[in-house]
Amino acid sequence: MVQASSKPMLLQLPSDQNSSGRTLGKEEIALLTEAIESGTLTSTKGTFVKTLEKQFAEMLGAKYAYACASGSGAVHTAIAAIDPEPGDEIITTSITDMGALTPILYQGAIPVFADVDPKTWNVTAETIAACLSDRTKAIIVTHLFGNPCNMTEIMELANSRNIPVIEDCAQAFLATHKGQAVGTIGTIGCFSFQQGKHITTGEGGIVTTNDDAIARRMFLFINKAFGYGDPNPDHYFLALNNRMGELQGAVAVAQLSKLWGCVERRRLAAKKITQKLQGIAGIETPYHDDRNLPVYWKYCLRVDGAIVPDGAVGLAKRLKEKGIFSAPRYIQKPAFQCVVFEQQRTFGNSRWPFTLARPEAVDYTPDHFPGTFAGLEAVLVLPWNEAYTDEHIDYIANSIRESLL
Ligand SMILES: *Cc1c(COP(=O)(O)O)cnc(C)c1O
Repeated sequence: MVQASSKPMLLQLPSDQNSSGRTLGKEEIALLTEAIESGTLTSTKGTFVKTLEKQFAEMLGAKYAYACASGSGAVHTAIAAIDPEPGDEIITTSITDMGALTPILYQGAIPVFADVDPKTWNVTAETIAACLSDRTKAIIVTHLFGNPCNMTEIMELANSRNIPVIEDCAQAFLATHKGQAVGTIGTIGCFSFQQGKHITTGEGGIVTTNDDAIARRMFLFINKAFGYGDPNPDHYFLALNNRMGELQGAVAVAQLSKLWGCVERRRLAAKKITQKLQGIAGIETPYHDDRNLPVYWKYCLRVDGAIVPDGAVGLAKRLKEKGIFSAPRYIQKPAFQCVVFEQQRTFGNSRWPFTLARPEAVDYTPDHFPGTFAGLEAVLVLPWNEAYTDEHIDYIANSIRESLL
């Protein structure tokens, strides 16, 4: 192709925001058609969401799975099942999606932000231990970017205190720690089917557990706490309609059959680029513990600002000129610096439940979070996709090499 300028042609990368980088196709359309033709679009009466729940639980090796409206809704369901008293503390991470944090406040609990390992951006048993108090009611661990947390040490700590662990697996479908799927190691697993996750229904989520009592509470919380099928059903506690509908359920069933392939292709693409990026001064390829098998929701580099001009931000700017849209700093700032936490904007002017918090639990002094700040400073989040070909991988690797100086 003849171009007007001497600029080299940019390669268009598949994107998870449209059909170029999604696995949506005729299988989804076929099941969607079936759902619509059935005339039953609510999951309380239909079959698709029930099928999704059964297949998802089987795939993971969990006893129960319940679909819901979003990943945020999944985390909300998990916290509601734990049933904290107002002012109880829930330890979480300072680098995550807001949808994993605000449900803590909606349930009247206090999010206590643990620091992260700057090499993995994940919480560790040590950073969690530093946040424990006699009010700790649960621990949420987020397997960020699809790389599992070191669950052996985290579960040892949690079990020694009898504290339930909620695993946020929104970015980590089928990732494993010592061969065990994340989402089945702690008490509850939470997943998201939002547009940009490994598989998608646009919006949607699912929770998993092996615990009978927790399962019962999660089912109720998703369903206005109405005891469907009970002899004298009632609305047993405070809960909204958090259900997934049959249209999403139909798409999810088709998407689920493509998940293994998606994960395998992302792993292979990551392996290839990691080989191409070995031994380059100024950048480090993703680190993971030998016991963990990540699933590459994104592919993250650590950029050394002492070597690469303007660090991750500079590298991102130069990559953008080549049509590669990466995210330096990921969420820009630690979650605790967002207005909702910093100014305690909750219900009216009440600041509740922050009014119940121990001062140390809401002390966001940067000195307490060295790993978080170092991690965000260094991270460059590259968009990652199962549709990347060798040509795309070469293009990204070469663009990075050319953009380092
Ligand atoms: C996407 C995401 C969520 C929230 O999921 P939604 O479906 O967008 O509500 C929660 N936690 C993590 C780690 C996520 O990546």
